[in-house]
Amino acid sequence: MDLEQIKQILERISLPHYTKFIAERNGKTCDSCRCYHEKVFRKDDPRRPTLPIHPNCRCKYQDIPITLRSAELQKEKQHAAAVFTSRHRLSENLAEELAEQIIIARMENRKLESEDLFLLFNGRYLLSSDGELLLDAVAGQPVDKKINIERISSNLQREVDTITFDYSYKRQGIENVGGLPHGLYTMDRKESGSIVNFNIKKHITGMPSWGNFHWRLHPDDATDMRGRKKDSFTVHGGTEPASGGCIDLTGQDMDFKKYLCSITKATLCVYVRYCSEKVIFTKQQLVPIDAIFPAY
Ligand SMILES: [Zn+2]
Repeated sequence: MDLEQIKQILERISLPHYTKFIAERNGKTCDSCRCYHEKVFRKDDPRRPTLPIHPNCRCKYQDIPITLRSAELQKEKQHAAAVFTSRHRLSENLAEELAEQIIIARMENRKLESEDLFLLFNGRYLLSSDGELLLDAVAGQPVDKKINIERISSNLQREVDTITFDYSYKRQGIENVGGLPHGLYTMDRKESGSIVNFNIKKHITGMPSWGNFHWRLHPDDATDMRGRKKDSFTVHGGTEPASGGCIDLTGQDMDFKKYLCSITKATLCVYVRYCSEKVIFTKQQLVPIDAIFPAY
């Protein structure tokens, strides 16, 4: 055994271990087990669901073997995390967390294994697997909204909106309410449209503005649409963080358009994998006090 082989073995020993949740799927499988089916977790992640989920639960974990591919994935993770910190100024913890979600997506979905570049929507951000893209994004109708007002100076105050989204498995199945269902979608970067026609609908339904552009999301055949309309989801902008289930870029649709112009790939995979059931989105805005309380 030469030095290079020994180095490779040592490298593999120190790699983190991952495991895949396998739910026994039949007519009786409950939502609390079904929602984890084929999800990948790091073995040392304290948030990983513990088995059994309920009495008589027949779900199991299937360990993912450590191979040369595992080492490649860890390198990809390090690269993405470095881009998140340098380009988007994220904290090291958050950068690491998002980069981990990217490689977990690759382990969860076979079709992503060979993609050089894909997008991930986690309920809080839309990001690219190389870390270059990072935009605020949410999906579905919020469950709670609070506005806190902090006075900063005699004529300036800050409005902090905390908006809570519920991405539970159950809610993903509710038409016009929940975020789009977990799974794989594809998007043609040139298949964008302006929102003019949608805006007419908006005025009738009172839905918040859908921004300037939208890009259609095509669900993969293997994606369980949970009974929701297959052709109803897009990526779009908007003034208020809320949607009927689409990925809402909360006003950054122009940034997304710029990003799409900067890449050469025509069809992008968009993987939807919610990072947690509840996500709190905060929106901060500095407002001159006079603008809100005009002096009479
Ligand atoms: Zn179970």
